Amino acid sequence: MENLVGQPCPICGDEDSLRMLAMTAEIPYFGEHTQITLSCEKCGFRQTDFIPAEEKGALCHTLHITKPEHLLARVVRGSSGTVRLPELDLEVAPGNHSTGYVSNIEGVLQRFIDIIEMVFRQTRSDAEEREEGTEEAVLVMTEMLTTLEGLKQGEGLGGCTLEIHDPNGHSTIAHEDAVVRELSEAEVDDLDPGPVPLVFDASDDAVD
Ligand SMILES: [Zn+2]
Repeated sequence: MENLVGQPCPICGDEDSLRMLAMTAEIPYFGEHTQITLSCEKCGFRQTDFIPAEEKGALCHTLHITKPEHLLARVVRGSSGTVRLPELDLEVAPGNHSTGYVSNIEGVLQRFIDIIEMVFRQTRSDAEEREEGTEEAVLVMTEMLTTLEGLKQGEGLGGCTLEIHDPNGHSTIAHEDAVVRELSEAEVDDLDPGPVPLVFDASDDAVD
């Protein structure tokens, strides 16, 4: 059920507009969890996270993408999850207003593609303004896009690994071939922790 949170919105500060929606669900390899979405009707702020029923600790999930079926593996990315494609040297860190999502590997690759395309357009328009050569950056991004688009079609399998590092254990790659390990303290220190949790006891209050 959706409830008013009774706390100010972290973006616009409005006292009466922040609402919370909580739902419990079950995902294979992730288990029972509560999906919590905070939203502000005033400014449009929206943040989703996935709180497992069982505390999982700081975890890294890794899937070496070697088969077409891996592209369909379910991915839960909590708001504190850092997503990496190490072979391409790509990373999406959570940032302050990160929101979680449920997708599959193909969908995560598409998210990387969307980000690279955005940077690509920006780089090209910057280059036009300054009339400076940014050929190398454009070349690297073109190569990344070709690799990722190909991978989505099942080309170049075995060349890429997807990793999700989550200091709170709110993320998973739900496939039997995914490898799970605990993150070391040093690794956790290096991660962007994501947004400050607004509602600590939500999973207790919201679930009947
Ligand atoms: Zn707001």
